[in-house]
Amino acid sequence: MQVKHIERPSPNFDERTGVDVPDILLLHYTGMRTCAEAVARLTDAAARVSAHYTVDEDGTVYAHVPERLRAWHAGVSSWRGATDINARSVGIEIVNPGHEFGYRAFPDAQIDAVIALGRAIVARHRVPQRNVIGHSDVAPGRKTEPGELFPWKRLADAGLGIWVEARAGSEAPLAGGAMGPQVAALQAALADYGYGIDATGAFDERTVAVVEAFQRHFRQRQVDGVADAETQAILQALIAVLDRVA
Ligand SMILES: [Zn+2]
Repeated sequence: MQVKHIERPSPNFDERTGVDVPDILLLHYTGMRTCAEAVARLTDAAARVSAHYTVDEDGTVYAHVPERLRAWHAGVSSWRGATDINARSVGIEIVNPGHEFGYRAFPDAQIDAVIALGRAIVARHRVPQRNVIGHSDVAPGRKTEPGELFPWKRLADAGLGIWVEARAGSEAPLAGGAMGPQVAALQAALADYGYGIDATGAFDERTVAVVEAFQRHFRQRQVDGVADAETQAILQALIAVLDRVA
């Protein structure tokens, strides 16, 4: 499917060295007061940042960098063991003031455009559904985008990304400071899904940050870094569906 867009070329890109086709679709919010301000920054050579696209709140799509090239949006990141996330991803900036300037709901017209654009990208490059993720997923503790108001379920219902429902079991909640094999198992499961975390068995600051990132995406009503029974159940359910999704 062809999505109409307005060209706003950015000089901030290089080659996808070592990567033939992107296999991650990475979603951001702009975190600036206006779309114009964000587009100006993403196309300013001095800023040294970019993305492939920006989607305004009214659904207008701006194109900055051709998908075959490497845009600069992920920074220090990791997903499923890969760390050069810019080299292997297509990045979409979604206009929203963000947590700093007045985080608000994403309008329907904007999400419709993200879905159409995202589906076309996923189809073009055969991006696995589990690699349709947010900046916070690849940079826990450093980034909170696109955040807990982003309608991941709506995207998944439209065929973009993975969403599961799971009922809380009887697992004891795990929180900062906890130690032991249950913590190691939780960390291993998070790493299995893709998060950059080691199974140390200690529920340290990094673990809190990763659990928060997980919740921001998959259990949005409560983002507190505590791996309660529901959070653990959702993680297990996600891992269980990986066998049957691309
Ligand atoms: Zn970002």
